[in-house]
Amino acid sequence: MYLDTLKINKNWCVVEETFDITRIRHNESIMALGTGFLTTRSSFDEGFTDDEQNISYDRKAMNVSLEVVPTKKSRWGTFIPLVQGKHPFWNVGVINLPYMLGLEVYADGEKLDMEYGKITGYKRWLDMQEATLYRTFLWETKSGKKLNILFKRYMNPDDKFICVQELYIKALSGSTDIMLKSYIDNDTRTNGYDKFISHEIGFAADRVIYSDVTGNLEDRIITVSRLICDKMQSHSITRDGRRVYSNLSFTINENEEVKALKISAQASSMYFDRETLLDEGIRMIKNAIDKGAEELHTAHKERWARNWEMSDIQITSNDPENYNSQRAIRQSIYHLLRARSTDPRALNCAKGSTSEMYLGSVCWDMEIFFQPFYIYTQPHLAKMTGLYRYGILDGARRSAKAHNYIGARYPWQTDRYGDEVCSLFEYADHEIHITADIVVGLWHYYQNTLDKDYLYNCGVEIILETSRYWTTRVNRLKGRPGWHILGVMGPDEYKPITNNNAYTNFVVRESLRLAEKVVTMCKEDAPDVYKKLCDKIGFDEKELKLFKEIADELPIPKDEERNIIWQCDDFDTAFCEIDIEGIWVDKTRQFGSYTTQELRYRAKCLKQSDVIALMGLYPEAFTKDEMVAAYEYYNPYTIHDSSNSICHNAIVAAYMGRPDLAYENWLKSIDIDFGLRPRASDGIHFANVGGMWQEVVHGFGGLVNTLSIDILTFKPCIPEQVKEISFKVIWKGQKTAVTVTKDTLKLKNLSKNEIEFNVYDKKIKVSPESEAIINY
Ligand code: BGC
Repeated sequence: MYLDTLKINKNWCVVEETFDITRIRHNESIMALGTGFLTTRSSFDEGFTDDEQNISYDRKAMNVSLEVVPTKKSRWGTFIPLVQGKHPFWNVGVINLPYMLGLEVYADGEKLDMEYGKITGYKRWLDMQEATLYRTFLWETKSGKKLNILFKRYMNPDDKFICVQELYIKALSGSTDIMLKSYIDNDTRTNGYDKFISHEIGFAADRVIYSDVTGNLEDRIITVSRLICDKMQSHSITRDGRRVYSNLSFTINENEEVKALKISAQASSMYFDRETLLDEGIRMIKNAIDKGAEELHTAHKERWARNWEMSDIQITSNDPENYNSQRAIRQSIYHLLRARSTDPRALNCAKGSTSEMYLGSVCWDMEIFFQPFYIYTQPHLAKMTGLYRYGILDGARRSAKAHNYIGARYPWQTDRYGDEVCSLFEYADHEIHITADIVVGLWHYYQNTLDKDYLYNCGVEIILETSRYWTTRVNRLKGRPGWHILGVMGPDEYKPITNNNAYTNFVVRESLRLAEKVVTMCKEDAPDVYKKLCDKIGFDEKELKLFKEIADELPIPKDEERNIIWQCDDFDTAFCEIDIEGIWVDKTRQFGSYTTQELRYRAKCLKQSDVIALMGLYPEAFTKDEMVAAYEYYNPYTIHDSSNSICHNAIVAAYMGRPDLAYENWLKSIDIDFGLRPRASDGIHFANVGGMWQEVVHGFGGLVNTLSIDILTFKPCIPEQVKEISFKVIWKGQKTAVTVTKDTLKLKNLSKNEIEFNVYDKKIKVSPESEAIINY
């Protein structure tokens, strides 16, 4: 059987050894497939009994991380980030598109059902190297027949809107009547709501079935599928409500193996002419069918081999039982590669498109958590981040105006128009560090790529417009010198409306300081572009004076005696101590579920530590002693109810020279989505996924990011459980391959120019195509 040719490498494959209905929803997210343009949760082809996906429910804006959603066995999810619609209680967000994966199998009239059928030898795995999902088992039917079944699925990033499903059936006993029912179902809900204002189903020539829906923002989506099988003896088209089926029957003989191929495509008006979508969808699936399964999968594997070439990381480690650092880092990289497209209008949401929970909106997660992976290994994809922010600059201008400010103020969570979609005022009004994070992100990109074209044509405008916003958002205080940023929520969302938040002030200061620098650069290198920009936004260089003054006068609160950077003014004395350990009885539940928001807002309990996040981002701006003081002070109060929290703790622990703590945090990061008890049923935590890459490369590998340093510098900190880590990074356009052990660092220069680099305070030069080994 074809199945016998498949190999499962535990370092490359995420394997589900037994069928467990309670894990299905998690693994739908963890094993999600996608092209960047289109993502599908990895739902079971044939579906489950009593698992309706068309249940409407009220999803209201409660506390973002503690919301409870209705439990179902599975959660269908098909997303094109750019295809969005309105929700009655939430704002604009992605649409859960018509479901295209339906493929039921009947044997002698009995429907395949993983829960209630007689199934043995079950195994499902995602082979990340090939980005291919497999599921196999032996099905013994009520009529006593034994069928060996294999489902296979993949989505090639080059075929942006296509999904391929293969099905292999081998009859082990007697001849069996098989019916395959392939369907498309447009009765889907997005956060409990039907976002379609019109829906139709139908069929076309060559047994093509389709769904035609229009979303409530007028996006039109035509979903097209075709199922083929050489063995087909009869065929029919049927309908059931909003579901259309293509039914194909045949008899399979003992020892015979039959193969079926289902190709589906999502053609939307965001990418194609809305009048010809059906033709477009049919064209896409025809092209794929003409190639055939073998050619399609070969091309898909080749594409993924290229993806991994620059981005793979190898880790040799001796992890505790149930952990595999090698596989975990590949899970992180797999999702980072899977989720990103080359369309700068449609970028990654907090769930990496594995659910609609965050409405598909874009948050600070993009610049601070996953952008470094793209900057250092896939710079052409990193560029999309900055282009996206430039594309929604008008939205940021609208937001500034709506809040009575000048310039540009980026929304906390954005939709495709660049408008705010967060319904909770604490975040939307007060979590303003996002505006500076965007500048930090674009500067990080520039620093490592030296992409002047982007900087001058997009970046400078963002920097100047956001700087203008800050001039109207700062205040003077009676009896206190300097400028202040008052009434903000820092990254720690359990402390709303505080003054002079260290994280916020620091990133604002950095972004304001960039204004003068980029103006000088742009004036000199691209005077015409600069002049045009000044005319466009009415910029006068005199404005730089105020930017500088504010930057210089923004305080970063600190207790000089104890060497502790305060999260905000008076942090130590303004919030009460509570008995965290006593309250938090079961640590597998979030601390938030034991407490009210009202209590968390006035107590010393941090959803994530702002100061640690800041030190992780700008390690060179703080001394080791400051890091130790901050870690020791904040750690007992840090609840980590935000999955964005752990990675910075790991990175800072590494910079503190505490490999044990860094490793402890690393395991906690794995636990979030990829451990024994994942929290991924409503989507993966994409910031943590990006954070995991940073933990390995910036933390263990010690690569200091280009935000703080111009020379390639490593300060490795390898935990005792880790023997060796190898990764590649592109540093200012130059490719390098790095291998780090507990006491050595080997750097191979893969570029055409000499590279100079530091390992702690040792300086080394390596010629092109050569390598250097340093004992540190
Ligand atoms: C975190 C935010 C994050 C958001 C989306 C929240 O729980 O506190 O920092 O941006 O989730 O991931």
